Amino acid sequence: MKITDVETYVLLADNYDPSLTSSAQDTCLVIIKTDEGVEGYGECDTSPWVAKAFIESPGTHTMDQCVKEILIGSDPLDIDTLWEKIYVGSAMTGRRGAGVNAISAIDMALWDIKGKAKNKPVFELLGGKKQEEVIPYASLQPIGHSFQEYKDSLVAWAEKAKSLGFKAVKSEVTLNGPYAHSGLHEEDDKTTEVVAAVRKALGPEIKLMIDVQYRWKNAEEALRTVKDWAEFDIYFLETPVWTDDIKSYARMHDEAPMKIAAGEWLSTRYEFEDLIVNGKIDVAQPDVGRCGGLTESIKIAKFSQEHNRIIVPHCWKTSVSISATAHFAFNTPNCAFIEYLPPQLCVEILRKELATEGFDFIDGKIKPPTKPGLGIELNRDAIKKYQVA
Ligand SMILES: [Mg+2]
Repeated sequence: MKITDVETYVLLADNYDPSLTSSAQDTCLVIIKTDEGVEGYGECDTSPWVAKAFIESPGTHTMDQCVKEILIGSDPLDIDTLWEKIYVGSAMTGRRGAGVNAISAIDMALWDIKGKAKNKPVFELLGGKKQEEVIPYASLQPIGHSFQEYKDSLVAWAEKAKSLGFKAVKSEVTLNGPYAHSGLHEEDDKTTEVVAAVRKALGPEIKLMIDVQYRWKNAEEALRTVKDWAEFDIYFLETPVWTDDIKSYARMHDEAPMKIAAGEWLSTRYEFEDLIVNGKIDVAQPDVGRCGGLTESIKIAKFSQEHNRIIVPHCWKTSVSISATAHFAFNTPNCAFIEYLPPQLCVEILRKELATEGFDFIDGKIKPPTKPGLGIELNRDAIKKYQVA
């Protein structure tokens, strides 16, 4: 089998609002075609224009080759070799960040092709089923422009998630800092007030995670507030401080009364090794659409397991990467939960329209996928409607 074409689409929701924090308003969709008629689908979570340029830009020398040219004519089933060829061949521009994010979309599409070619769900090709079911947590993102609207919307989403059968919920609580919702600028006691309200709405049975999205400048500042959160029984606290402040992460691990989670933006196993060994984080959160795809996710999961760390993959995108994340989770014994943005609990059009999910979600649990590849169907009308480049 040979790759005959690589199509890269920039999709943008027609109601996108650049003042919102949601990266699910756009996507870079990659479709890889083969001479046997099998097609693979992947996407990544970075600027879709940058990812498209990374894949399609002409090469000028050996360490900056054209990624699309590397792919065309190659065997799509030899994924490890292709991954390495692209990673090394694009090293001067890629190696980390957007380049590796773009490779993630290609890698996802290659695994989709492999599954379809071998008539097997991707998780079986990754090494088989390591757990019988995967528990998704509902990711709650607030709406509204005032503190009261913000709090009320999170409580309403939490109640809805509970009624949909979710066993775990993650609430964004970002009232200040670089990710502050809709220009809000509230004191830390308001953050605690929202955490308390969401916990009360959920009751004691449902696992609760809190994402403050880099709210505090350092561990000293973060601990002033979160040291008193033991009563809310938080499963983990996500990204309390800036992603590169490894020393603060280590101190948070030592002193905070809950697990510390991070890694949503990282690419490659090397960045995760630093975060785990030096940042001492308890929960690693690779995003399959950013870290280097399924191929790199598996390496990150293995390293995490060797260091007794939990994996809870990040994913805030469409059904394409959510399905890839589910396949990864079934093959990852130390994966406790996966992030899941349910179509019923979000406003993102691409999440609702771009593709079907490659799995069934029943009674708060994801069942093992049965269809070949990632198991997704693309909605071609949505691609036409939202393509901008
Ligand atoms: Mg986050």
